[in-house]
Amino acid sequence: EDQRLKLPPWLKRTIPTGKNFSRIKEQLRDLNLHTVCEEARCPNIGECWGGGEHGTATATIMLLGDTCTRGCRFCSIKTSRTPSPPDPNEPVNTATAIASWGLDYVVLTSVDRDDLLDGGSNHFAETVREIKRQNSHILVECLVPDFRGDLDQIKVVVDCGLDVYAHNIETVESLTPFVRDRRAKYRQSLKNLEAAKTFRSELITKSSIMLGLGETDEEVRQTLTDLRSSGVDCVTLGQYMQPTKRHLKVVEYVTPEKFLNWENVGNELGFLYVASGPLVRSSYKAGEFFIASILK
Ligand code: SF4
Ligand code: SF4
Repeated sequence: EDQRLKLPPWLKRTIPTGKNFSRIKEQLRDLNLHTVCEEARCPNIGECWGGGEHGTATATIMLLGDTCTRGCRFCSIKTSRTPSPPDPNEPVNTATAIASWGLDYVVLTSVDRDDLLDGGSNHFAETVREIKRQNSHILVECLVPDFRGDLDQIKVVVDCGLDVYAHNIETVESLTPFVRDRRAKYRQSLKNLEAAKTFRSELITKSSIMLGLGETDEEVRQTLTDLRSSGVDCVTLGQYMQPTKRHLKVVEYVTPEKFLNWENVGNELGFLYVASGPLVRSSYKAGEFFIASILK
């Protein structure tokens, strides 16, 4: 018997449109780039790629291959203890593709690479430097793994010239062992974000929480407070969606009203910006929010 909850109306997907969106999609075909936006069939692709009020088009690119050394119970990415080695040409090729694409804001993310001595940190850093070398106007956010708390690896990324440092806490403390890979730790993620801020206090830091996994309101509030205490500037909250039947079930579809309430709570706690809504993902309109927050 299928005991999954029925999809509420606010999660029905919209079809992406817009001039900018079609142009980018056409260009992408020739560039041989893999965006998380397309591969995850993200419902926000029209809004992100199209740019909004500030015209800041955002996309998310996956580095370091398609195979992760970890296995989180909410994530549909392939897992292996020995993924293929990183492509040494990826930093330059990615930067060239991004420069010719006409993006304003790019989110670089990756699978976790516990098999690499540097956790992939130098690969991130090289890609950022190459993007900035080819077009210094493109804003770059790195959404990084926890690097097992290794301060040297965190510092390599912090010092590479990026604009936003992001690491996702994903869920509240009590659910962390059931939701994330056992090597991921709630406190370790907080320390990672705190370390980035300590290394460079003017760097904007960011994190993301999925709701609907069975967390209580008190726990969500505590997680927001913990992030803020770790110096995190920006936070996003979105609905967890079960990617396949083998993954964690959705416990609750959180209402849009409740998401709005978390946005208010986040603003009261003093975040630079809070993006909160059923379809919000950690990179949702990241460029638009970044511009809006620095104009504040
Ligand atoms: Fe997915 Fe990231 Fe977890 Fe790997 S570490 S399984 S990519 S969420
Ligand atoms: Fe891409 Fe992230 Fe926007 Fe989705 S939310 S379209 S993954 S940038």
